[in-house]
Amino acid sequence: MADLSSGRYHEYRLDGSSGGPLALDFSLDVQRNQCRRMCHRPMWIGERDSMANDSEIRITLLGTGTSHGIPMIACDCAVCTSPDPHDTRSRPSILVDYGDRAVLVDTAPELRLQCVANGVQRVDAVLFTHHHADHVCGLDDLRRFNWVMKSVVPCYASPETARELRRMFRYGFEEDTSYPSSAPRLELNEIDDGPLEMFDRRIIPIPLLHGAMPVLGFRFGSFAYCTDCSVIPESSFDSLGDLDVLVLDALRRTPHPTHFNLEQAVAAAERIGARETFFTHIAHELMHADTNAELPDGMALGYDGQVICARA
Ligand SMILES: [Zn+2]
Ligand SMILES: [Zn+2]
Ligand SMILES: [Zn+2]
Repeated sequence: MADLSSGRYHEYRLDGSSGGPLALDFSLDVQRNQCRRMCHRPMWIGERDSMANDSEIRITLLGTGTSHGIPMIACDCAVCTSPDPHDTRSRPSILVDYGDRAVLVDTAPELRLQCVANGVQRVDAVLFTHHHADHVCGLDDLRRFNWVMKSVVPCYASPETARELRRMFRYGFEEDTSYPSSAPRLELNEIDDGPLEMFDRRIIPIPLLHGAMPVLGFRFGSFAYCTDCSVIPESSFDSLGDLDVLVLDALRRTPHPTHFNLEQAVAAAERIGARETFFTHIAHELMHADTNAELPDGMALGYDGQVICARA
């Protein structure tokens, strides 16, 4: 049975309960007030006075579902009809909160709902793992952060992903007078495997293979996010040592050509040896409670709205 009651794993809930993901109350005022009342520390960037100290980052799992989302359209299986809110999964994305800055990884189709549900107040940069639809189709919602941040939103992607983003969202990356005011204003920066330096923090891209397709994971301090992978190249294990927290792809029990299944993910997580590992990109084969009951100590399925802390 996975025991996540100790260690550096923390949760912040809106309803004060000890289990379950954050309530999806889309009233932001209600959420802010509940956060202030219920959390160990007052929440969310923008409230810098009382936020985590500089040695800690806070990661929010905005979405932990596979490309279809859970429940899937027109499926009445036990997971898609589960009353357990942990079994409701939007498409994969995370927010890494440094206290005074926040980095979004991928723009899932539910980006707006994820940001509202989790009280996201700012996005200072967006990193893209790859261009698949479940990771980019919420890109248009970034225009809200043009207003909130009063600036363009810097985006970072490999040259291959950048090329696809420009093709898919041409109106967001090129001057287009037919979209005079409503297009997102984005600055697309191409990156390689070298460390990224932004706002005095170092972020390390981690090359992964998603089937035959190269994609990127990212390491932030003692936290690493590796979604959409079926192989971790040997050279990438060097970037995955001494982790507090790993979030890793684990699609389902049956094998898949482009994703780790649960058995492969557990084996990779054991080799990496993070203090805590949470699995993401989860399909409807995996019931949250039942799966967690069989996972090794220190490993569990992640869930939408989960908040985790790690050393910066
Ligand atoms: Zn995906
Ligand atoms: Zn289903
Ligand atoms: Zn993918």
